Amino acid sequence: MDWNALYSSAFEGVRGRIGRVDRVLLAYNTNIDAIKYLDGRDLRERVEKVGKDKVLRYSDDLPGRIESVPQLLGSILWSIKRGKAAELFVESCSARFYMKHWGWDELRMGGQVGIMANLLGGVYGVPVIAHVPQLSRLQASLFKDGPIYVPKLEDGKVKLVHPKGFAGDEENCIHYIYEFPRGFRVFNFEAPRENRFIGSADDYNTTLFIRDEFREGFDEITKSSPLTIISGLQALTKENYREPFEIIRGHLDVLNEREIPTHLEFAFTPDETVRKAILGLLGRFWSVGLNEVELASIMKVMGEKKLAEKLLASDPVDPVAVTDAMLKLAEKTWVRRIHFHTYGYYLALTDYRGEFVRNALLFAALAAAAKAKLGEINSIDDVVKAMDVPVNEKIKPIEEVLSKVYGMEDGITELNGYQLTFVPTKIVEKPRSTVGIGDTISSSAFMGEFALR
Ligand code: ADP
Repeated sequence: MDWNALYSSAFEGVRGRIGRVDRVLLAYNTNIDAIKYLDGRDLRERVEKVGKDKVLRYSDDLPGRIESVPQLLGSILWSIKRGKAAELFVESCSARFYMKHWGWDELRMGGQVGIMANLLGGVYGVPVIAHVPQLSRLQASLFKDGPIYVPKLEDGKVKLVHPKGFAGDEENCIHYIYEFPRGFRVFNFEAPRENRFIGSADDYNTTLFIRDEFREGFDEITKSSPLTIISGLQALTKENYREPFEIIRGHLDVLNEREIPTHLEFAFTPDETVRKAILGLLGRFWSVGLNEVELASIMKVMGEKKLAEKLLASDPVDPVAVTDAMLKLAEKTWVRRIHFHTYGYYLALTDYRGEFVRNALLFAALAAAAKAKLGEINSIDDVVKAMDVPVNEKIKPIEEVLSKVYGMEDGITELNGYQLTFVPTKIVEKPRSTVGIGDTISSSAFMGEFALR
């Protein structure tokens, strides 16, 4: 199979037809990512100043949320010690004040909506309407120029303006990202791999705050949006999910009634009650996007423990286990499209057929490789700069399994009335950045499908 030829024509196809995608509505999470590259000496001095004993306890047991400065520093040490990512909500004012004064090296657009708005609107030039829970000046400054809009209520009517023209003076929702490289040393800890600890000083995205414009004007907003992508449900807990879920159900009523294809970008949702509740809503979505950890976490709440374990047991992920899991999910929920991505390949299960499904996946894989290679994509023409990244050779056995077990040809086969679609991805050896790459993959593929239809 000459995947490079398919990559090339998929790119040309999407680039030529992207103007056909009219407008995409994006809800709900947008925030500011403030990145601090940790310095070993600075961190050690800070820990000693606050009190080493007080801090170190939390490097063994991660607290549930950050309620003090020692908990903040201890949690950072917890991540370093294990080379593991962690994200905690920062409740205490003093810890928030401390983080603000500690500062950052870089500010970036954060939240799936913010990242996708800049990609679809700012890079691809596809008009988007974004839900931004709080539009501070800092938040507005992180939006790229281009057809990106936020709704503004004026005399009960919805007006669309670029975030920079919103003139809001709202709160900053900052996710402080403390990054460390592999081998980073502090006290007698050494990071086994690079990673980050995130402290979210954000009361809005974490509780899925939904703005008045989206509560009162949703009907109006959806009139001009033929596609929707929803994300940001992941931080909810069993204590606080009911109210936002009521609003989301109302939004889905409107979207379903208008037959607007809606994609859910699933992100790892630690709370099992919330995960089950999302599963209960999935049938009202057209499409869902997820990786292996997220698919395994869904299998777990569906009672498929063995399958969940299988999904996490091998690298690259076993495609037969993925296909089984996708079939179970589709048959349980009736969601029409499942897009699975992992390091090395993507699979999609759709209740409709066509090469455009595969070509949209190829476009998305090229966009992901371009992002990894360049750090940032500034125009759709940057996407093609990843054509020289080789197609992942290690995935050959995966392709062979799919052909043997399911009779797959050219990345497409039929299974239980569904189309199963596969693409091997291009993997950048030394990526410049992988932040938000999952969002790039899912939004490019979903949008790409509707450009190619
Ligand atoms: P995140 O939440 O960080 O975006 P995801 O797991 O959702 O993480 O997405 C990561 C995906 O990015 C992987 O599944 C893989 O397909 C892709 N990816 C990761 N690293 C690279 C790379 N170096 N080159 C190309 N694609 C990559």
